[in-house]
Amino acid sequence: LKSGGEVCDARFSKCCGGISEKFSTCWTDEDYAYLSPVRCNVDRANDINYTGDAMSLKEWVRNPPTDVYCATKDYAILSRVLKAYDQRTTEDMFRWSVKYTREELTQLIKEKIGVDVGKVVDLRPVQMGKSGRISRLDIIGTLGHKVIGKELLIRKALSKTHLLSSAFYVEKSFDGQTEYFTLYGAGWGHGVGLCQVGAAVMAEKGFSYTEILNHYYPNSEIKLIRKL
Ligand SMILES: [Zn+2]
Repeated sequence: LKSGGEVCDARFSKCCGGISEKFSTCWTDEDYAYLSPVRCNVDRANDINYTGDAMSLKEWVRNPPTDVYCATKDYAILSRVLKAYDQRTTEDMFRWSVKYTREELTQLIKEKIGVDVGKVVDLRPVQMGKSGRISRLDIIGTLGHKVIGKELLIRKALSKTHLLSSAFYVEKSFDGQTEYFTLYGAGWGHGVGLCQVGAAVMAEKGFSYTEILNHYYPNSEIKLIRKL
């Protein structure tokens, strides 16, 4: 797979969540034409203007698109892509949530990335990509605040293992005794390049591998590099 004369760095992730992500949201500040965000639907590939601020991210996560391939609930397709699929449900991956008490969240952030801002008061996205994945997150606490990023560090900071993705919004609640932070999110993985679930759905629909690669890696072409 080549683009602009170069061999493509064909990255992929489990589930884009509806729109794939650009390289610079997750790694260094550079972008590649073949890793441009696309909607997880061939017919609406360029229909990607859904996120960009906290309000639209919330809307994107709460009212997920139904036309995108990785919204599938087809067990046969999912079990082909995911190991130990039985441990998770589709909803867990395309749209998911995780709930912490304020103390748990404060402790996690301190332990996982060594940031101590006092007790966590809020988590505010500062910058996000087209898929809704947050690349810079402001952690606001009782003693100060700290902006962290990029995507991978945010996922590490907010989970004992890894948060499924950095495309999420936060809802705070209080049950009279305990304060809770619930993270509602979209997708699994960095979301850059090919969406594995989406590609499996495309294959099931009868698209060829060239059509699948051309969709998830726009501005690329399959070329013979060397005859064996
Ligand atoms: Zn997808």
